[in-house]
This record gives sequence, structure tokens and C-alpha cells, in this order.
Amino acid sequence: MTKAKAAELLDRLHAQHPDAHIELDWTTPLELLVATILSAQCTDKRVNEVTPALFARFPRAADYLSVEPAELEEMIRPTGFFRNKTRAIRQASAEIVERHGGEVPDSFDDLVALHGVGRKTAAVVASNAFGLREGIAVDTHVLRVSGRLRLTRHADPIRVERDLMRLYPRERWLEVSDVLIFHGRRICNARRPRCEDCAVEDSCPSSLLRSVRKRAAH
Ligand code: SF4
Repeated sequence: MTKAKAAELLDRLHAQHPDAHIELDWTTPLELLVATILSAQCTDKRVNEVTPALFARFPRAADYLSVEPAELEEMIRPTGFFRNKTRAIRQASAEIVERHGGEVPDSFDDLVALHGVGRKTAAVVASNAFGLREGIAVDTHVLRVSGRLRLTRHADPIRVERDLMRLYPRERWLEVSDVLIFHGRRICNARRPRCEDCAVEDSCPSSLLRSVRKRAAH
């Protein structure tokens, strides 16, 4: 895949999803960090149902440490994996308080160094809350769509991120994840991709229509 071809694909996908943006509700870096941790294996819609009460109860990082874990677990239970997520939120909060004076650090390296914060979460917070372009958030949709379009030949998120960072200029990194996530949710679904409605179907090696056409030609 050339950089020019990759740029053209992203342009066309962005035209199909001009409203692509992060769908988690947040107003502060801490809220975005917590919402992103909660979004693992959970829909943004479900996270957005849980977070208003959570953010009202815990406006500062220190507040997550002031209650028993069970209280937090109960509040985030609907997002699934609530024990692990409670642990991640409290570990990150403790380090934010101890090492960063209670403020979420505005550097990718400091974010990814927090316990319970992986590269994807760090990239989401760094790019959306601080305008940094230090990485590309690779979630399940980005993995799937970039694989189907052959933007990468890898399946491992770190390698996929590296391939996407090589293909696209830094200023497009947030756009890459926003657009591929929207495309994965709306069109290029995991089980039944809607190739007939896809803006880049004519360039996609994985198009279902391609195999139908091939069968018809024989
Ligand atoms: S053509 Fe089909 S498989 Fe390819 S990106 Fe579009 S929806 Fe996904």
C-alpha cells in the first residue's frame, strides 16, 4: 500500500463519515481517561449511561481513592469486567495523585506509564484531551478495517499502529482512528460487512461483492 493510496482511501472514508469523532462523553482529561478505561469490551453508549453519576461522585483523581473499591465496582458494573476496571481506575488515580499532583499528565509517555493505561487509552487521551499526535488508538474496529483494506498485514495492535503511523502523516492520526472506528461500526461490521454501501468498495481486497462478481463471471 502506497502512502498516496492510503491517503485516498482515508479521504473517501472521511467523506462517507464526515461526523466521525469520539463518542464518549467527557469534559475533563480525567473524565476521558476513566471513560476510555470503561469502554474496553463495552459500547460507548453504555459507558455514557454510567458516567454522569460517576463523574458527579468522583470529580478528582483523589476521589476514586476515597471510597471502598466495592462502591466503585457497583457503579461501573453495567460496563462489564468491573473488578478489573475498578483496579485500573484506582491504580491510575493513585499514580496521578502521587506523581502528577492530581492532574492527568499531558504527555503520551507519562500517560502510558500509568498502571492500567495501555497504548490505546493513552492515545485517545493524548490526542483528544491534549491535541497531541503521539500514537494512533487501535481498537477492534481499527484492527478489522485496516486489515480488510490491507493498510496492514499484521493483526497485533502494536504492529498495526506502527504501520498506520508510517502510512499517514502525524496530523491525520486522530482522523485515522475516528474514521476507521466509525466505518467499522456503521459499515464494515465484524460479521456482515455492508460492502454494497461502502465508499471504498472498488479498492477493497476483502469486498464481499468482489467474490460474488468473480463467481458470476465463471
Ligand atoms: S468493501 Fe466491505 S470489507 Fe471492504 S472496507 Fe468496505 S465494508 Fe469493509
